[in-house]
Parts: sequence; structure tokens; C-alpha cells
Amino acid sequence: MGRVAIVEDGRHLGHFSEGHPERPDRVETIRAHLSSSPAMRALARLPAEAVDDDVLLRVHSQQHLDRVAALCAAGGGSFDLDTYATAFSDKAARISAGGAVRAVDAVVVEGFDASFAVVRPPGHHATTGSAMGFCVYNNVAVAVEHARATLGIARCAIVDIDVHHGNGSEATFWNDPAVLYTSLHEYPFYPGTGALADRGGPGAEGLTVNVPLAAGTSAATWLQGFDDAVLPALRAFEPELIVVSCGFDAHRDDPLADLRLDTATYAAVAERLASLTALPAAGRTVWVLEGGYDLDALTASTQAVLDALIAA
Ligand SMILES: [Zn+2]
Repeated sequence: MGRVAIVEDGRHLGHFSEGHPERPDRVETIRAHLSSSPAMRALARLPAEAVDDDVLLRVHSQQHLDRVAALCAAGGGSFDLDTYATAFSDKAARISAGGAVRAVDAVVVEGFDASFAVVRPPGHHATTGSAMGFCVYNNVAVAVEHARATLGIARCAIVDIDVHHGNGSEATFWNDPAVLYTSLHEYPFYPGTGALADRGGPGAEGLTVNVPLAAGTSAATWLQGFDDAVLPALRAFEPELIVVSCGFDAHRDDPLADLRLDTATYAAVAERLASLTALPAAGRTVWVLEGGYDLDALTASTQAVLDALIAA
């Protein structure tokens, strides 16, 4: 039985734009669902804290932090066509990144077998210098750099299962020989990156593993891609920490994308990662919410992952 912690925080509510799919209900519906289940209520609940500049600056430029602060100080606005900010968004995004950091601490420092950060705004499109694709700060990248800078973790793997390619995460670690980035994603699709031939920069060749999949790809084909590309890469890389960029927008019910996963697919991913006990990470995993825009699919998929992690 795995010891699993949930990281959550209600202070994302001030990050909100009327009619936008990346909305507070995404996290609130999951939180309400977890609170209504006796088994889930028994899990440890950990709060998130907003991260300071020094934590963000391991990934992002000062210019990016200044731009976010200025837009929020002006009352909010837009970073690009689909990425908004309110006066509260800087704080909300810092709490979201802090949730990912807290989830890493839960596993690495506090000895949980797995942790799941139910946070928003998401992060994997945010680059060193800019917000994009609903993302302000790159939560997972910040969490990985936190583990490396403060917890003595040398080798980290990011397993990105969001339906969109995590261009920000890939770019952040493109030349980094100590971080493996893997992604299964719909392709061609937003944000346009994630080609099969993109395998990492000089000194890190093969440490970016992209599995582009056509619209309409089935759950079975997706899982085959995971087994054929992601699992061997993890075994070869031998990470000390595995962080999952956990978007649920590859679910068949998601309104923004066209892959055909179901809740069982997400449970299968959790089972497979937890079974990698021979690696230095010892089957321990940190999950950080990314996308996912159908509320029922979000809650059912989160539940499926947590059930699999508890059973592992
Ligand atoms: Zn996505």
C-alpha cells in the first residue's frame, strides 16, 4: 500500500477569466470530489506556499518575473491570445509552483511514496522568458530545479502525459544531461513543438523523448507508445526522481483535444511508474496537474491515478 499525499490550496480562485476553459472549477471539482470520498479523506492533505523569486529564478528570467508582476499590478490583462492574468494571478501562479515544490518535498523529504499536486494555473508551456498556453510559471520545471538545488537530487525525469507538448519544459532542459524529458502528445497540435526528431541538445542527445500521436489515437496505441518509448528511457536514465506533468486533456471526453484515453489509461501509467522499483527513484512519483477541461473526466482520472498509487 502506497502512502500518498495530496497538495492543494484554495487560493487559485482569484485567477479567473469569464468563459476561459482554464477555470477555477477544474481544481474545485477535484477537491470537492476528494473530500466526499472516505478513502480520499484519509490521505494526507498538504498546503501549498507561494514560492519566492529565488525559487522561480532557477527556471525563469528576471524579465519574466517583472513582466508578470507589472501586468498583475496593472489589474491584469493578457500575456498572449489565450493566457490571461488578473491582479491576483502572480500570487496564484506562485502558489501553483509552490504546490509542485511541496509535492516534491512530500516524497523526497517526508517519505511519501507518491504525491499529487492539485494546482492551477498549469505550467508546462511556460518558458524561461514567457507565459503562454494558460501557463504563467513552469511548475514542474521549478519543482525539478528545487529538488536539484536543495534536496541533493542529481537526476530527474519528467513524464509529460498532457495532450499538448510541454514546450516550456523541453526547452528548459534541452541541453541538460541531468534531466530526462518525455512526452506523449497529439501532433500536429498546439503548441507545434514535440517532433519525433527533437531528441535533445548537445550533451543531452536522447534525453528528450517525444512521442507525437495523430488525432484520434486510441488508448491502446497511446499506452503502447508509453511502453515502447517512455519506460525504456526511464530505465536507461535511472532517475532519482520522477515528476509527472499530469494533464488529463488526452481523455476522450476532453473538449480541447482529440486523443482517446480513458481513466484506465491513467491508472495504467500510475501502475507502470510505481512498478519501477529497481530504479533509484524506487517507484516513487510526484504528480502535478497540468491541463484537462472536462470536469467529470478530471475527477474520475484523478481518482484513478490516486487509487492506483495507493494500491501500488
Ligand atoms: Zn494540455
